[in-house]
Amino acid sequence: MKLGIYPGSFDPLTNGHLDVIRRADKLFDRVIVAIANNESKKPMFTKEERVELASESLSDMEGVSVETFDGLLVDYAVGKGAQAIIRGLRAISDFEFEFQLALMNRHLDSSIETIFMMPKDKYTFLSSRMVKEVASLGGDIKEFVPAPVLRAMLERAEEIKRHSLQPE
Ligand code: ADP
Repeated sequence: MKLGIYPGSFDPLTNGHLDVIRRADKLFDRVIVAIANNESKKPMFTKEERVELASESLSDMEGVSVETFDGLLVDYAVGKGAQAIIRGLRAISDFEFEFQLALMNRHLDSSIETIFMMPKDKYTFLSSRMVKEVASLGGDIKEFVPAPVLRAMLERAEEIKRHSLQPE
């Protein structure tokens, strides 16, 4: 059984991530979307919220599940019995970091390979950070995120607006 682990912050999951997951789903019997804790990155959504949003968005894909992990990715991946770590490559700008990461992971454990997948060209400019920035400025993001994520982001924007309108 071939298992691929797709790790990331997924804060939140975008259609670019979804594109990579659909491609990986064709190559592997099972894919685990592994959500990193990354508290230091000050996420917009908590780990639990990110899991819920990803699970809802991926509910039509039988071979795909969502988990969280702490600590070293290679330890987690090997513990799961995975054959590969999946990462997305959008542009040359991703390359240097991803190359370093893949080689470091190989150094830490040479039994696991990193596989890179390129999304459809219309998603090559898409990142979670960009989606959050556009949404915070009132821009339309519905083409870029799955429906559950869009709903959660609109709710979050409403909450922020309500708080900022409240008298001190
Ligand atoms: P991280 O915090 O590890 O960068 P992300 O959630 O931002 O986590 O991304 C996880 C993986 O998905 C990374 O390999 C990233 O390059 C890739 N990725 C992010 N957005 C896209 C996209 N639009 N198309 C393809 N790959 C993407």
